[in-house]
Amino acid sequence: MNPQYPTNLTSFEEVNRRLDEAREITGVPAAAMPLLKQPYREIRVQIPLYRDGQLELYTGYRIQHNAARGPYKGGVRYHHDVDLEEVRALASLMTWKTALVNIPFGGAKGGITIDPTILTEEELYILTDTFFSRIAMILGPSRDIPAPDMGTNAKVMGWAMAAYGRKEGHNPAVVTGKPLELGGTVGREDATGKGVVIITNEWAKDNGLTLEGATVVIQGFGNVGSFAALNFAEHGAKILAVNDVNGAVRNDKGLDIPALMDHVQATGSVVDFKGGEAFDGKTILFQKCDYLVPAALGGVITRENVDQIDAKVVVEAANHPVGPGAEDILLARGVEVLPDVIANAGGVTVSYFEWAQNIQQFSWRSARIDEELRHILIKSFNEVLKIQKEHNCSLRQACFAIALKRVYAASAARGYIRV
Ligand code: NAD
Repeated sequence: MNPQYPTNLTSFEEVNRRLDEAREITGVPAAAMPLLKQPYREIRVQIPLYRDGQLELYTGYRIQHNAARGPYKGGVRYHHDVDLEEVRALASLMTWKTALVNIPFGGAKGGITIDPTILTEEELYILTDTFFSRIAMILGPSRDIPAPDMGTNAKVMGWAMAAYGRKEGHNPAVVTGKPLELGGTVGREDATGKGVVIITNEWAKDNGLTLEGATVVIQGFGNVGSFAALNFAEHGAKILAVNDVNGAVRNDKGLDIPALMDHVQATGSVVDFKGGEAFDGKTILFQKCDYLVPAALGGVITRENVDQIDAKVVVEAANHPVGPGAEDILLARGVEVLPDVIANAGGVTVSYFEWAQNIQQFSWRSARIDEELRHILIKSFNEVLKIQKEHNCSLRQACFAIALKRVYAASAARGYIRV
């Protein structure tokens, strides 16, 4: 372990520490950093919910981090671990992600501290309707555009759009990741997982490798994890093991991913899948493989467990799964880390296409979505590789350096920063 590394950083402090590290290779003045780091606006709302006649009170957050380059953009998470500091970190990451892939958005994130799996459909609807009605005044197609994240999906976004519309007037461009019937786009559902594999494949090519025959282990088999698995399998990689919150499954010959997706669709979990053996999901991150893909929660690879990682590359499909201090240890051991801000940027990129289609009132064909997604991600990743090689820095430092320069330049051009 690196004794120099600050301990006990929150996830938000860790993002800011990484920004400071990146600033050193950007020429962005240090005096600009406080304004660039701090969120612009934080809103916290009360969400009353009656369950079985009892009043329960939940807390919802929307944090608008930075809008120098365009409207705030970012997902809404329903999870029992949601807290203000975590949402701050996620909102900040969105600012740097949208800047890195150079789409005209800022960064935001929202969430409700609740386990949505305990709710009936009706309760989920009321929770969503209440939350989005209470934050509607700060949303809008040119203000702030939410999207799905952990625990939310297209259905929830449809209800969110309706809650906003009742107050502010109908406008599909106010949320992305909506059902197709409400102006959603083809290609949004699988975009994040597909992007994870586009970036991993580009990294492999740059290192003279191929995904054909490579071994992959995935933590989390929700939207991102399942579509990443499918795309890895389509590239000829072997998915050795996956898990979800309920259990884990392994097959050394490679899991049949379409069959596993059907099983999860039917049963809600990877548990009892006949095409593999069950094992203890707590060990998922320590399985030997070429590509380890955490696709569930943040902070799962820590200074305490990092020595047990037995992969050649960690692909951050989730947001900040590699916690404070763990990345330096991985890199020192020669384990590459493909950072979240580029690895999972496919989702927000196709969200941008959805927003653009809503504004144009014109639908793109799926071939166009695919082509534009590949173009944006590959171009952005090539810029990252170039900076990494020029400065002999980490991929994350290169990502943050590019993004920081863009957000600083936009803030300066608006006159917000005059240092
Ligand atoms: P999801 O709710 O669809 O799926 C989450 C998966 O993780 C489920 O399989 C769940 O069972 C599993 N999980 C939850 N807790 C777990 C635990 N403790 N151990 C193992 N598995 C666990 O969520 P998602 O949309 O796939 O998001 C996953 C991650 O990807 C999050 O970090 C999210 O912020 C990030 N992300 C999502 C998108 C997107 O477009 N959905 C875009 C960028 C980043």
